[in-house]
Amino acid sequence: RTLLRPRTPLEELDAAIERGEIEPYFQPIFDLRTGDIFGAELLARWIRPDGKVISPARFIELAEETGRIQPMTWHLLRTALADLRSLLRGDAHFKLSINISPRHFVCEGFVDELRGIVREAGVGARQITLELTEREAFEDPARAAAVVAEVRRLGFKVAIDDVGIGHSGLSQIQNLRADILKVDKFFIDSVNRDESAVIMIGMLVRLAEEMKMTIVAEGIEAREQVETLIECGVGSGQGYVVSPPVPAKSFLELVANRTGRDAAGD
Ligand code: C2E
Ligand code: CA
Ligand code: CA
Repeated sequence: RTLLRPRTPLEELDAAIERGEIEPYFQPIFDLRTGDIFGAELLARWIRPDGKVISPARFIELAEETGRIQPMTWHLLRTALADLRSLLRGDAHFKLSINISPRHFVCEGFVDELRGIVREAGVGARQITLELTEREAFEDPARAAAVVAEVRRLGFKVAIDDVGIGHSGLSQIQNLRADILKVDKFFIDSVNRDESAVIMIGMLVRLAEEMKMTIVAEGIEAREQVETLIECGVGSGQGYVVSPPVPAKSFLELVANRTGRDAAGD
């Protein structure tokens, strides 16, 4: 075996997919005021046989470029729905967010496959949020907007991810008509140091209100940020202040222990 040529990154990725080494981790999404965990974002991790955890920054792009992202996304969603089954079925308000690559989102058959998987798991479409990044512009914005309208008509929620750092300015927000804006960590980082970050977030809060969207602040690391974000009018958040992304078992324990406690006050 050692005499075989080294495998290419793609061969390694295929082998990892084949062996089921790409797994969902979960990061809580919580109410900033109460600390209640009302949702989770699914974040992919590659768990090597030796236990080493590889970050998605190392393999998502390759998966996107080679079409592996599609089977990978469906595998992650199926696994996550099974992992969080009791939570999703026991609490109709609990939401699971999943990152969808823009190219995959506009693919033929995307909506049917999504519906099939969610229905098979016995989970309501309302409990699933699709996160679409603003980092990449859609090649065909009209088609993207049509798919957003279709999935929303079926009950799914749509979030625009990484808001504020993409190249599309505000046009993505106007075009897609999503339910949720996820404000990028970039603004959250400086919220207690730089008045302009507070102004920007305030502006996004007003924009969201006018367009009947809600806001989730990403990458919150400190209690003081929670306080300032509440003052800005932000309702929900995500970040190391509550928990990094963790495996399903730890996530379920966290929810059981944490629900009802105050994120800003313990
Ligand atoms: P993202 O969707 O913006 O996810 C948020 C990232 O911020 C995650 O990185 C998360 O671990 C990190 N994060 C959350 N809170 C904090 C914090 O308080 N401090 C800091 N420093 N970081 C925080 P992660 O898991 O490494 O994922 C990176 C990106 O990879 C994601 O960014 C997303 O764009 C992509 N990604 C991950 N999983 C998937 C997937 O299943 N499908 C697709 N298409 N993309 C994925
Ligand atoms: Ca995301
Ligand atoms: Ca993000």
